[in-house]
Amino acid sequence: MKAIRVHTPGPEENLVLEDVAIPTPGPGQALVKLEASGVNFIDIYFRTGLYPAPEKPFGLGMEAAGVVTEVGPGTEHVKVGDRVAYAMQRGSYAEYAVVPAWMLVPVPAELELATAAALMLQGMTVHYLTHSTFPLAAGQTCLIHAAAGGVGLILTQVAKLLGATVIATTSTPDKAALVRRAGADHVIGYDNVAAEVRKIVDKGVHVVYDSVGEATFKGSLDSLRPRGMMVTFGNASGPVPAIEPLLLSQKGSLYLTRPRLADYAQTREEIMDRATAVFNWKLGGHLPVFSMGTYPLAEAGRAQRDLASRATSGKLLLKIS
Ligand code: NDP
Repeated sequence: MKAIRVHTPGPEENLVLEDVAIPTPGPGQALVKLEASGVNFIDIYFRTGLYPAPEKPFGLGMEAAGVVTEVGPGTEHVKVGDRVAYAMQRGSYAEYAVVPAWMLVPVPAELELATAAALMLQGMTVHYLTHSTFPLAAGQTCLIHAAAGGVGLILTQVAKLLGATVIATTSTPDKAALVRRAGADHVIGYDNVAAEVRKIVDKGVHVVYDSVGEATFKGSLDSLRPRGMMVTFGNASGPVPAIEPLLLSQKGSLYLTRPRLADYAQTREEIMDRATAVFNWKLGGHLPVFSMGTYPLAEAGRAQRDLASRATSGKLLLKIS
């Protein structure tokens, strides 16, 4: 089969399309013939070495959808022929993947596999951010950074579905228009964020969902009301440097968390709950602003370059078969 692999962490050119053996599913695992694979920032972090992969060479890609073609001994939950999707198992930039069966979610017949692949990682992230990390309630105000991005567009629409007021950041007029279509109440740029936020809500926001990281961190803290929650969940501009806990006290007894999906999707039950909610948002018409930019598997490097360049909005996908 064809698979993208990395022999040495580094630039996009280090993504190599290779012929490798189709893997064999072991006990509790299933072999999935992939139709589409999501492109996410975490793939860039592994490619560059920010997140080290233990093996060499290593595969990339943390989410996909396809059809089960083989199951290992004693495998429960899925059978050959099932349409499935998954996230947080590395190696989906490939024609086939072996996946622990407990991670595989059945894809409803009404949902295309490509759409399911596009929703898994970013959709489940939005679910845990808004339902577990900081359960967002009607009447609350949130600040969402990079609201035109893959996570950001879903997050904006779900925050509105939950009845929150959304202040969104983005970088261009076109992206601002997209974010407004997604329902954001206020769209601002990245300059003087805290001052702009306080013009809208004097006391500050209840929660900041910040995926940009280093560049936005300080402005995010300054945008919160006392006892507000700072959710720093990404490094698009670089990782956030260390801070003194006293800073949180000085800025109003703030809460700070740095969550990741893997810790909010630890069991089959948790994955099924979150993925089912995400599929229902889509099938129920609650994510009307949703786009998928597609690339061939061989052009995974171009997809990553585009994602990192800030030129894209919405989801990027590799169409595999
Ligand atoms: P996006 O589609 O959001 O792309 C990143 C966006 O960030 C850009 O389009 C850009 O939007 C904005 N941005 C602002 N500053 C920069 C910068 N200096 N360099 C690059 N981009 C910048 O990506 P994803 O939706 O795939 O992921 C968003 C973030 O969420 C990533 O950091 C990712 O790691 C994180 N994430 C974390 C998860 C978790 O569980 N912790 C799970 C999933 C994603 P604009 O032009 O509007 O500023």
